[in-house]
Amino acid sequence: MGKIDCRACLVEELTDICLKNNIKKFRAKQIFGWVQQKGSQNWEEIRNISKEDKEILKQSLYIQAAGLVREQRSKDGTRKFLFSLADGERIETVLMDYEKDVSRDRQTLCVSTQVGCPVGCSFCATGMEGYKRNLSAGEITGQVLDVMRYLQKEDESFKITNVVFMGMGEPFLNYDAVLKAVTILNCEDGQNIGMRRMTISTSGVVPRIIQLAKDNPQVGLAISLHSAKDEIRDILIPMNKRYPLAKLLAACNAYSALTKRRVTFEVVLNSANAERSEAQELAKLLGGMMAHVNLIPVNPVAGSGVSRPPKGKIQMFKNILEEAKIQVSIREEKGLDIDAACGQLRQRLESEEYESVDQS
Ligand code: SF4
Repeated sequence: MGKIDCRACLVEELTDICLKNNIKKFRAKQIFGWVQQKGSQNWEEIRNISKEDKEILKQSLYIQAAGLVREQRSKDGTRKFLFSLADGERIETVLMDYEKDVSRDRQTLCVSTQVGCPVGCSFCATGMEGYKRNLSAGEITGQVLDVMRYLQKEDESFKITNVVFMGMGEPFLNYDAVLKAVTILNCEDGQNIGMRRMTISTSGVVPRIIQLAKDNPQVGLAISLHSAKDEIRDILIPMNKRYPLAKLLAACNAYSALTKRRVTFEVVLNSANAERSEAQELAKLLGGMMAHVNLIPVNPVAGSGVSRPPKGKIQMFKNILEEAKIQVSIREEKGLDIDAACGQLRQRLESEEYESVDQS
């Protein structure tokens, strides 16, 4: 059997490994703390385990940094990180709206769940590149740990408080690894990120919506909706052909009934869909549901042919939804100067030089 990634292990799993190797049970909790709380990137950083025990454990477990290689900083505080994984594949992770301010109680990291994405949304740089593979639970938790470690060099008390599974990939097509990462990140002896401070975003994998409500009703659910019309959603998000709006919204209603929680609907607004008729259709579709709509003015992707709508149209769209008693927010336009739409950093890296990250 191959070695197991320590960053993908719960305390119980580490306990089993310790006991099998005649190592005291309490060592498992210590290792978990070093790896999942302090973000240790190798065995050498773990100080209170004997050399002998480490040598034994190294036969079964490995600890490896996710491989942070590049960083981009936006004027508005958004910071975007590019990771090169053990097999050379590249993923990205975005820290929204970072400020070097210890009093801030919210630092939100947007993590990737797949290398590439099979869904192929027409507005998405990742979708344009196709699918390579799923990330492991350790590669998902690793994004949180390595960004934390890197930023603790600037501010020792830096902590990631919120995680959104909204980066590259469709989280519900890598369900088990994503749920395992959520469980690990929630552990008290690790990052201790509250379940309600984590949100999984899906393009609409209907069976997993119900499954999430049953498996982990505390985690937030966001739907990449983008249009209230099947004929448009079929083009934007090919997943819609398999799970059209009627099925998707029925699953969201079932999710709310089971969890008593509001579903967030993400709607990217561009120059083509920021229209009165679209807003009215959306109000009709979501009226009466436990819904919150997040309006996101599009980040233009080179070659996609879409552009941002004027501010007045975005406000008009919001007003129509609010008149239908639907909760609405406009997501601030973060990171426009650093390509904050998913996949764009990786796409451009081939041809341009970015700031290298010193991980020492
Ligand atoms: S928007 Fe999300 S689901 Fe759609 S292709 Fe991009 S990464 Fe995949």
